[in-house]
Parts: sequence; structure tokens; C-alpha cells
Amino acid sequence: MSNKLEQVKERLYSSSRVVVLTGAGISAESGVPTFRGAEGLWKNYRAEELATPEAFKKDPQLVWEWYNWRREKIAPVRPNAAHYALAELEKRFRIFTLITQNVDGLHSIAGSHPIELHGSIWRVKCTECGLSEENRDVPIKILPRCRCGGMQRPAVVWFGEALDPEITEMAFSASTDADFMIVIGTSGVVQPAASLAGIAKNAGAYIMEVNPDPTPITRIAEASFRGKAGEIVPLFLLD
Ligand code: NAD
Ligand code: ZN
Repeated sequence: MSNKLEQVKERLYSSSRVVVLTGAGISAESGVPTFRGAEGLWKNYRAEELATPEAFKKDPQLVWEWYNWRREKIAPVRPNAAHYALAELEKRFRIFTLITQNVDGLHSIAGSHPIELHGSIWRVKCTECGLSEENRDVPIKILPRCRCGGMQRPAVVWFGEALDPEITEMAFSASTDADFMIVIGTSGVVQPAASLAGIAKNAGAYIMEVNPDPTPITRIAEASFRGKAGEIVPLFLLD
């Protein structure tokens, strides 16, 4: 791998507009379960059954209990070597955009400045007046209420919901301009994040993937590193 690693590194450091796209896999080594792994289940519910506007409408108590469980799991978790390596990499490039699908907040703790495509598990949003605010209570009071009296929901994007248009625009424009894109720990099946790599590729970017398993992105990647993010990503820091 060392020869290939050196080649890819050379290509990376000769690039001027770098975009990194991360998914649940980058936080797996920190102990945050991915949705599609065996640990993704809670009380036999799949994420796709709970992370939806319909589920919240039908049973907000149940959905909040699941988020409370996730917040309890994530609260003590620390960033791993991959998060820290990306925060370091950000300092080496003048134009560097980190786009994450994760809602766990670990990139920010590590010192990065991510575009959070799917929001944050540490924010809540009023279903009546729309006010969004930070809430780090663990456990959170169920059901949480806004100062206007409205019920609050997690400020995350659920299955079937549209992304914030401004955030989407930032992610798409960075991907269109990229000359090097690194895709880490995403299964490449959740849209529109999955299409960002295709957009970068069509615009001429070099695509590199880090994932223990092949994904739909592997087909368009010039380089694929099969392994854990915490072991592979730090190798890309110049020594
Ligand atoms: P996913 O669960 O669909 O896929 C995770 C990917 O990570 C898989 O391809 C897997 O092979 C890979 N992976 C597992 N361990 C890895 C490791 N150590 N290093 C590198 N890669 C590893 O995740 P997704 O593509 O992000 O999509 C799921 C959706 O669920 C996203 O929208 C995300 O917002 C949400 N989600 C977020 C978190 C989080 O915030 N940490 C956790 C679970 C799900
Ligand atoms: Zn309100």
C-alpha cells in the first residue's frame, strides 16, 4: 500500500480545493453505532422506522425516547484519530470543505468546521415557531417544549425530508469546484450526499474512498483504501 499511498498523497497535496465527505463510519471507532450495522437497532426498531416525520407525528414520545437513547450513547464519546487528522488536514489547505452526514458533533469537538448536512443531535427545533436552539441535556426532558409552548423536535433531517437549501447549496458548490474529494465511512446510499461524489467526479475531481467495504462510490473512485478510518486517514498527514 505504501507506494499507492505516496502517489495519492502527492496528488492530494498538489490539489488546491479539497472536499471531504464523511458518514457514520468515521464515528464507528469512537463507539457511535452506524445505522446499517447490527448495533443500529433499538428495541427492534430500525432507524428508518423512527427517523421520519410520520413516526414523530404518530408517536413523538417514542421518537424522543430513541433520540434520548442516542444522545446518552453519544454524550461520553470522543473523536477518534480520523476526526483529529481531518482537523489537522483543514489547516494545510487554503480551500478545504468538510461535509458530514453525521449528527454527532464529533468533527467540531476535534476542531473542524463541518457543513452538517443532516443537522445536529445536540440541537432542537420548535414544531410551531421554528426556533432552533442548542440543547445538551442528557437525559432530555420528554417532551421538550419551546418558550412559545410548541413541541420541540430534534433539529436533524429525517428520512423523506428535504435538506436545508442553503446548506445543500454550499455542499454542491464545494463539490463542483473540488479537485480532490475524500469520501470516508459512508455507505453511499443516502441522498443527496451520495451524489456529491458523482458531481465532483463529473467536474474533474480525483475521488478517494476510505471504507472497510466496497460501496457504490468505489466504482468512481480513483483510489480506494479498505480499512478503518482511524487507521487510514492519519496516514494522509504529511510528516
Ligand atoms: P451508513 O450507516 O449507511 O454507512 C456506514 C458506512 O461506514 C458503511 O459503508 C461501512 O462500511 C462504513 N464503516 C464502518 N466502519 C467504518 C470505519 N471504522 N471506518 C470507515 N468506514 C467504516 O452511514 P451513512 O452513509 O452515513 O448514512 C446513514 C445516515 O444515518 C446518515 O444520514 C447519517 O446522518 C445518519 N447517522 C449518523 C450517525 C452519526 O452521527 N454518527 C450515526 C448513524 C447514522
Ligand atoms: Zn416555538
